[in-house]
Amino acid sequence: MVIQTDGVVLKSSDSGDNDKRISILTRHHGIVTAAVKGAKSLKNRMFHAVQLFSYSNFTITEKGGWHYISNAELTESFIDIRKDVAAISLASYIAELASAFAVVEDCETIMTIVINAFYYLSKNDNSHLTVKPAFELKLAALAGFMPEIEVCAGCCDEFEKGEAIYFNPIKSGMYCSKCANSNSLPLSYDAYLAFRYIVFSSNSRFLLFHLSPVPLSEIAAAAECYILGLADKNFKTLEFYNKMLYKII
Ligand SMILES: [Zn+2]
Repeated sequence: MVIQTDGVVLKSSDSGDNDKRISILTRHHGIVTAAVKGAKSLKNRMFHAVQLFSYSNFTITEKGGWHYISNAELTESFIDIRKDVAAISLASYIAELASAFAVVEDCETIMTIVINAFYYLSKNDNSHLTVKPAFELKLAALAGFMPEIEVCAGCCDEFEKGEAIYFNPIKSGMYCSKCANSNSLPLSYDAYLAFRYIVFSSNSRFLLFHLSPVPLSEIAAAAECYILGLADKNFKTLEFYNKMLYKII
């Protein structure tokens, strides 16, 4: 069987002296893990197309239960991600998150936000600070975990401009100060507006927002807590990203 598909390389590991195994988030076939013969050779015509984070068009052949890449043509390498340790750390976490949440039915939409996140990371300095919470929240919403946002999930009152709002990641909702409990994380009104923008905007525009440092730190805390609770697992790439962040700030 032969599959022709575009996809993003989310994981890459060595296999023998000259080969690699890569995991690709494909448009319609979920995540496919396949061998690439001679992938480490610079002379291989597929060398750039099968690199980690590359967005390419793949011909994947299945034989005897094994998949291998018979052809790959690069669309975008996002090469500039590799110039910045913060960007490469976050891209690794995004790849691990996407792997954890991607199911065949949703892989096209998740692939779209991964590509947009990689593009933004490769083009904008320090964009990891906004890309991280935006990707976490957008991924949660696309994976079927859209929080209650428009009104207080407790008393159904509408939020007023300037009001302090509380996000409860366990109950997946926004609460007013009267209804919030000890599990709720505080959001200033600006952070709340950015949260709303991220989950309701299109998959190609969800990164186009600006926040000053304080509301950005509020939304970062809420987004990380929310996605980790949904995933119910730890991510080694997140631990590495957070350690790296601690060192550079
Ligand atoms: Zn309330």
